Amino acid sequence: MSDYPAYEASEVLAGVQKIVGEKYATASMPERINNSVGIHKVYLEKKDLPYVVARPANAQEVSQLMIFANERHIPVFVRGSGTSLSGASDYRHKGIVLNTGRMNHVRMYQDNGYVELGPGRRCQEAMDILEKEGYFFPMHPGSVRIATVGGVVCNNTSAHVVDPRMGKPKDYILGVEAVTPSGEILDVGTKSLRRAAGLDLTQLFVGGDGLFGVITNVRMRLEPLPKYAYGVAFFEEGRGTARSVQRMYQERLTPPLFLEYLDRRTALPGFEVQKLPTPPGPLILFQFAGHTEADAIAQCDAFLDITKQEGAINTIAIKDLDYWQRVWTARASSGPFAAQKAKGLIISAEIMSTVERLVECYDDAVVMGEDMPTLSKLCPNYLYGHLGALSFHPSFVLLSTMSDEEKVNAVAEVFKKEAELNIKYETCGAEWGQTGRRATFYRQRYGEVNYSLIKKMKAAFDPNNILNPDVLPDD
Ligand SMILES: Cc1cc2nc3c(=O)[nH]c(=O)nc-3n(C[C@H](O)[C@H](O)[C@H](O)COP(=O)(O)OP(=O)(O)OC[C@H]3O[C@@H](n4cnc5c(N)ncnc54)[C@H](O)[C@@H]3O)c2cc1C
Repeated sequence: MSDYPAYEASEVLAGVQKIVGEKYATASMPERINNSVGIHKVYLEKKDLPYVVARPANAQEVSQLMIFANERHIPVFVRGSGTSLSGASDYRHKGIVLNTGRMNHVRMYQDNGYVELGPGRRCQEAMDILEKEGYFFPMHPGSVRIATVGGVVCNNTSAHVVDPRMGKPKDYILGVEAVTPSGEILDVGTKSLRRAAGLDLTQLFVGGDGLFGVITNVRMRLEPLPKYAYGVAFFEEGRGTARSVQRMYQERLTPPLFLEYLDRRTALPGFEVQKLPTPPGPLILFQFAGHTEADAIAQCDAFLDITKQEGAINTIAIKDLDYWQRVWTARASSGPFAAQKAKGLIISAEIMSTVERLVECYDDAVVMGEDMPTLSKLCPNYLYGHLGALSFHPSFVLLSTMSDEEKVNAVAEVFKKEAELNIKYETCGAEWGQTGRRATFYRQRYGEVNYSLIKKMKAAFDPNNILNPDVLPDD
């Protein structure tokens, strides 16, 4: 682990206030706690709290902050909403939290076919603004209401979106403005709808896990909203859902925009709250996208036929949008409901499959945790996933009755087992980023030469290792 000099908190606060203004730099205890708690941090020690939380307004202030921190070797943690599930927002050093919340602009350039978004803009808000104008927003995490554009772009996650159908944020982003750890402001990429061929540093910042710079503006092409068709298929047993998706790819059907899996246990609370009939078993829900409604309906019908052949006991081509909204909301709220019901905190793994081994991977996901000392006490897990995108999220509720030590062990076991299975399937996490608590996996999966090359690239941008140092640990 890198060592950093210790400072008087008042000295850091005064320096940061000079840059962003008194109002936008604070050392208040609630703000410091709020801005350092990550999803997997089951307890927080006072000594780990940041010196100060800063809210810069623009790239110029970010640049001055980075110069200030770089000269003093103070770690800087960029924070969107702190909802990272890879542990990227669980800081292990004392430093400055750079909260992106004030950089939340939305600048539409419809005549040029792109939009510019501030990194601190929340995804749901950006989605609402774009959809109102008739455009598709390609970032759909379960945390959409709070996750920021910067956090999502930095992980290059399309989340629920089925990548082979609509791609990842990288496929939409034309360029970014980013501030390097030593304070240079870079404008990379293009304003044209045709992106650079060959070298383009945009590719390092989008999906760069926050290693190389602070993104202060994202330029994204505008994609017209498609027309949709919706469906749901209920099964008695889950393997039929995996077989349906496998056949969808193997028989070259057009994949849907979303295709979500829920086991019965996970679905029940949401279905109950939405006053939907109790599902008889596991289910999949899907949304197809086409240039015309007829096109989307034809794709949906073709997939419904496959689900029937693979054992679906009830299939519905949904025409009633209100019904679809209720099913989708039941899905979206399944995690929080499960946690609420069990009075605990939910933690998840992400197991990715190949098309060919999808059924085998499903079987592994069902029993994930059964051979682990702490997780086995929490099994059966809650299983849901973006099945159309070939991913499963076995999830576990950390009960409030568990000791801190048990909770820490459970989190470690989730990451260990996740790594084991993704190595088995020769895949990697397709959401949440590759570093933080996943760094061990990265080293196992891709080897020490690969990891050391990433570290060297990081050192070229950040010789003093001050920007998000915890996402690429030495140990
Ligand atoms: C209930 C729940 C559901 C979720 N569902 C999904 C899901 O379906 N799919 C999915 O992929 N993820 C999901 N997540 C994880 C998380 O929301 C996403 O990974 C999201 O991208 C993180 O956004 P954030 O604004 O919270 O980023 P943060 O957690 O604040 O930051 C994440 C990383 O990005 C860096 N970063 C943030 N902004 C910038 C910037 N401007 N410049 C440089 N680096 C930056 C941070 O330093 C950190 O390393 C979920 C989380 C929760 C709690």
